[in-house]
Amino acid sequence: MQDVDVVVIGGGQAGLSAGYFLRRSGMSFEILDAEAESGGAWQHAWESLHLFSPASWSSIPGWPMPASKQTYPMRSEVLNYLREYERRYELPVVRPVRVTRIARSGEKLAVEASDGRVWLAKAVINATGTWSQPYLPFYEGVDKFDGLQVHSANYVNAQPYVGKRVAIVGGGNSGAQILAEVSTVADTTWITQREPEFLPDEVDGRVLFERATEKWRAQQEGREPNVPEGGFGDIVMIPSVRDARTRGVLGSIRPPTRFTEAGMQWDDGTVREFDAVIWCTGFRAALAHLSELGVVDDQGLIDVDESRVRSRLVPSIWLLGYGDWNGAASATLVGVTRYAREVVSQVSSYVAEASPA
Ligand SMILES: Cc1cc2nc3c(=O)[nH]c(=O)nc-3n(C[C@H](O)[C@H](O)[C@H](O)COP(=O)(O)OP(=O)(O)OC[C@H]3O[C@@H](n4cnc5c(N)ncnc54)[C@H](O)[C@@H]3O)c2cc1C
Repeated sequence: MQDVDVVVIGGGQAGLSAGYFLRRSGMSFEILDAEAESGGAWQHAWESLHLFSPASWSSIPGWPMPASKQTYPMRSEVLNYLREYERRYELPVVRPVRVTRIARSGEKLAVEASDGRVWLAKAVINATGTWSQPYLPFYEGVDKFDGLQVHSANYVNAQPYVGKRVAIVGGGNSGAQILAEVSTVADTTWITQREPEFLPDEVDGRVLFERATEKWRAQQEGREPNVPEGGFGDIVMIPSVRDARTRGVLGSIRPPTRFTEAGMQWDDGTVREFDAVIWCTGFRAALAHLSELGVVDDQGLIDVDESRVRSRLVPSIWLLGYGDWNGAASATLVGVTRYAREVVSQVSSYVAEASPA
């Protein structure tokens, strides 16, 4: 059993950002990560994925992401950056370690891994991301559908869809980017809850971050944010999406009422046949290992006071990097820094109180 001040669960960009500030705090800590390699969810993203902001707007604390030859860095550049970042700051990442359970152990927390190892910690920073929890909406008959079904979490490239009839479900950036790629080789139909919101061509993901920053400032100042309605997930018009618009494949229709063996059916009698459905319907936070503490609600969320879990019995867990519900833009590279800094500052005060010199 290892005894440390802080255990960070998750070694993606959020966990590493916490590690950067923990290193400077002087507290003892370890970062436990379920992956075999560095890079968190970026390892599983599709091959052609590019960031939607330039490198200068895609850095975690301390060392900036090196400039890219392209305006928008590729996925492989993010992976290199996170790997080098770990080395540069000599972050104590232990992998692969999957945490399966956290239990109270006196004033401390026992963090248990699937291989039987246990860490005892005064505080836990939970930075497990969402990639391991793909979300699939329920549709009547979907279990009878004969075609291929893939979530964007497992989408690699367009090759399996050549010459097929493919439905892309989901109106966010993943849906738009996968649609743009698959539509070059397949007959695609884009299915979205409502008409997608496209950003103007001349701006990029920086605008989404600026909107999130305004929301964060407004929260701090106790006023309403001055941002467009629902404007945090608007679609960034990266070159492939602009090209899809030029080819006339960026139109969308609303969801079906039910699935059939061969495809989908709408209430007005419309029927469409598909060979494959790609679900770009998002993710949920990976929090199963916290469930025994009684802090996870029916929606799979946790009540937080900013980033700290709101619980009288377990006051020593902080959540980092899940996006809007626990920090606007905290699920982006450039956005996670301010939350990591604040979380480590709070953890530091807590640990100092828990173990006075
Ligand atoms: C299509 C798309 C495009 C994007 N583009 C951008 C962009 O341009 N710019 C940007 O900044 N962001 C972008 N993002 C967002 C960003 O990539 C992710 O939100 C980011 O990976 C989240 O980082 P994280 O550290 O919170 O989680 P992750 O990267 O998921 O890391 C979490 C780590 O925790 C580990 N873990 C999970 N559960 C456990 C457990 N029980 N025990 C131990 N370890 C565990 C996981 O294995 C993983 O290694 C994009 C996302 C998508 C889907």
